[in-house]
Amino acid sequence: ENNSPTNFIKNIINEDLKQNKNDGEVITRFPPEPNGYLHIGHAKSICLNFGLAAEYNGRCHLRFDDTNPSKEDMEYIESIKRDVRWLGFDWGEHLYYASDYFEQLYEYAELLIKAGKAYVCDLSPEEIRAYRGTLTEPGKNSPYRDRTVEENLDLFRRMRAGEFPDGSRVLRAKIDMASPNLNMRDPVIYRILRVPHHRTGDQWCIYPMYDFAHPLSDALEKITHSICTLEFEDHRPLYDWFIEQLPVPRKPQQIEFARLNLTYTMMSKRKLLQLVERGIVRGWDDPRMPTIAGLRRRGYTPAAIRDFCERIGVAKSNSTVDIALLEHCLREDLNKRAPRVMAVLRPLKVVLENYPEGQVEELEAVNNPEDPAMGVRKVPFSKVLYIEEDDFMEDPPKKFYRLAPGREVRLRYGYFIKCTGVIKDESGKVVELRCTYDPETKGGSAPDGRKVKATLHWVSAAHAVPAEVRLYDHLFTVEDPGAAEDWESCLNPNSLEVLTSAMVEPSLRDAKPEDRFQFERLGYFCVDPDTTAGRLVFNRTVTLRDTWAK
Ligand code: ATP
Ligand code: MG
Ligand code: MG
Repeated sequence: ENNSPTNFIKNIINEDLKQNKNDGEVITRFPPEPNGYLHIGHAKSICLNFGLAAEYNGRCHLRFDDTNPSKEDMEYIESIKRDVRWLGFDWGEHLYYASDYFEQLYEYAELLIKAGKAYVCDLSPEEIRAYRGTLTEPGKNSPYRDRTVEENLDLFRRMRAGEFPDGSRVLRAKIDMASPNLNMRDPVIYRILRVPHHRTGDQWCIYPMYDFAHPLSDALEKITHSICTLEFEDHRPLYDWFIEQLPVPRKPQQIEFARLNLTYTMMSKRKLLQLVERGIVRGWDDPRMPTIAGLRRRGYTPAAIRDFCERIGVAKSNSTVDIALLEHCLREDLNKRAPRVMAVLRPLKVVLENYPEGQVEELEAVNNPEDPAMGVRKVPFSKVLYIEEDDFMEDPPKKFYRLAPGREVRLRYGYFIKCTGVIKDESGKVVELRCTYDPETKGGSAPDGRKVKATLHWVSAAHAVPAEVRLYDHLFTVEDPGAAEDWESCLNPNSLEVLTSAMVEPSLRDAKPEDRFQFERLGYFCVDPDTTAGRLVFNRTVTLRDTWAK
């Protein structure tokens, strides 16, 4: 029973349930390799797998697919757990490591050998490749293919015992060197590799290959639906082959869906690692990264990411999603939850000549017009204010309606003010405006009915809190940097702009990392963890202007 939109995977599950396949159970898994941080593409898989489990009253396992010790690290394991939890999902007791199955997988390999379905091969990696053939040419049998069961068992046990050097021998499944599917041409299932494993240490010097470990790990955990991305479609016959050959507690079904690609970013962990290692970004959690940690630091909400994953749905063919859709989902969520505040990014001093020296008024400001329950707050108003530098032009073009000499505008929650003078420094730069305010316009309208064309945000100079504000743009200048021959040449040199003299209203003084706000007229911002007791740092999460074409 469910009410969320259907898709081809749910159709498969519904059909299975009708036939009482798998005793009516639905067990999925999210199987990251701990070789990097999770990105928004992984979020799609997480939402899908945990979402299906919740919808069908089943469960979803978090399994670390840690069979390749050379690239894996504990730091990644911790980050993955944190990110899955932050997205709002809970694996309960069902946390697994493929490395916990090493002994069982080894037993399975011996069973294959005993059944005459696997052999130890002494060809070099280059020879194996050459013997494999091509799409148009059948492969050739390895000269070691007909070793006896006894010889294979002996050699495989000695591989495990560490008698042979790295790379000197492999164990291969004995399937069909003429298969039209290259994956079925006697794939390698074990290799010799003396690399300590982050969990099993130096207990093993042979490691199972992904195509062998993955289906059997699924089967051992009694996964019912093993959902993976499309590039594994032509590995499915091999997945099924291992499951068929071996005595497993369940026969899971592999189902492929299209991976998520997003414009203006890359989704390959290998390339993201290069961004980190080459210092192009500050780390995996740099707010420009498409990683979950980066999105979190940027100010994304888990709800916005889940909504995005729901909207893009699951499909059978690859496509690229416009990043504007992700930003649209974010704005919809932040619009509901982010309190409005006033902040001035590039301050321009304004002195109200007719406002009494030393007087301070507490003006009432609405915290969120979308949600009256969020209440109101007081914002101090006084003789010296800051407004946004670009809200003033000395010599404005026709369409500029904001402040200019002789012109009147409204200050949000405050009064009408009129510019009466401009003060410049030696270089001719405007450094201060002289204005008058109209005490009759408190609250934003004039008793005589005169109108103004603009409402500006502002802060009171004596009360404002200085802050650093970091503005972000796409990390790349092209829609598909991953496809570029040299993606480094597509980096956006202006992806980060740091403003060090911003001024924010005093209610933000005690804001904490991950607090989110709408700075009126400027966008959504969040507090960065670089914030210290003496210095507030904000990240611009997203601008207000929605470019998503519905
Ligand atoms: P990458 O190519 O970035 O290294 P991966 O597929 O090798 O990613 P894994 O750690 O193996 O990374 O991924 C864990 C799960 O997340 C897999 O089931 C994989 O299919 C899924 N996944 C990875 N990238 C995407 C994506 N872009 N869209 C949807 N699912 C993805
Ligand atoms: Mg993978
Ligand atoms: Mg990969």
